[in-house]
Amino acid sequence: AKADGRNKFHYFTSSMQHNAQERANLIRDLRIALQDEQFEIYYQPIEDLRTGEVYKAEALIRWNHPENGLVSPISFIPLLEETRMIIDLGDWIFTQAAKQAQIWRDKFHDDFQVNVNTSPLQFQSKKTKYWYQRLQDLNISPGAIGIEITESMLMEGQENISEHLIELRDQGFQVALDDFGTGYSSLAYLKKFDIDYLKIDKSFVNQIAEDSDDKVLCEAIIIMAHRLGLDVVAEGIETEQQKSLLKSIECDYGQGYHLSKPLPKAAFDKYLEERYKV
Ligand code: C2E
Ligand code: CA
Ligand code: CA
Ligand code: CA
Repeated sequence: AKADGRNKFHYFTSSMQHNAQERANLIRDLRIALQDEQFEIYYQPIEDLRTGEVYKAEALIRWNHPENGLVSPISFIPLLEETRMIIDLGDWIFTQAAKQAQIWRDKFHDDFQVNVNTSPLQFQSKKTKYWYQRLQDLNISPGAIGIEITESMLMEGQENISEHLIELRDQGFQVALDDFGTGYSSLAYLKKFDIDYLKIDKSFVNQIAEDSDDKVLCEAIIIMAHRLGLDVVAEGIETEQQKSLLKSIECDYGQGYHLSKPLPKAAFDKYLEERYKV
């Protein structure tokens, strides 16, 4: 395991490389974490690049491990999927994110929306079928939640996931296609599925100021998305130059360390207070 200075994250080696004992320990720790509520949702702002307003955020899960500190989701999400624990955790994240979005709707912006990342098991387990009713019970509009999916979830053999997504969209949830451009046949999915947003993967945004090919690709994605009636979010914006370049090619929304790192909810609330001068 190594520590990453910038994120103060603890990384475990990928689950494939764990020996049996490490793996068993990690799974035991994850079960305890679920019981003891060691998971915490961080929120990262998504800025409307056209107006400079912030009324969207992405919910990103964090694990406060009692000995190892903050653990990167990249190290534990695969294990949560293998053990199917992601189903209950994903449901908890959904409810927390919706309640938080409602608080920020009341306090800052009527359209405030929190995006949640999803795992295919959440759809396969049919838990997502109850999301609409859950929000009804809480008196929260489905517009408070954006559902982030990845291309691989729409691949052949996952047919029922796309049906669930159509239903969720009909109920008023918005859907964003995450990591756009990194998969196999992104364009085919755009034709096949109705979604609301494309999130351009940070690997394209990284070099946008230095590599003219990356700029051309981003520009083309944005033009195409707009012609298809979709909004575009660029992720991984780390510099002012990247942000202004993306603005100049009419990217709708931006997200990245340059705007803010993901923040615990109290810190995010402060961030909004400053921006909204409440
Ligand atoms: P993702 O959905 O692509 O999330 C964006 C990742 O980029 C986050 O990493 C975020 O902290 C990071 N990021 C944001 N701005 C910048 C930037 O300017 N530069 C760079 N280099 N990175 C930036 P994080 O939080 O470590 O999450 C990693 C992945 O773990 C996520 O990738 C997502 O696939 C997964 N994940 C996180 N939270 C959840 C969750 O609640 N449920 C599920 N199923 N997956 C999650
Ligand atoms: Ca995401
Ligand atoms: Ca992403
Ligand atoms: Ca990504």
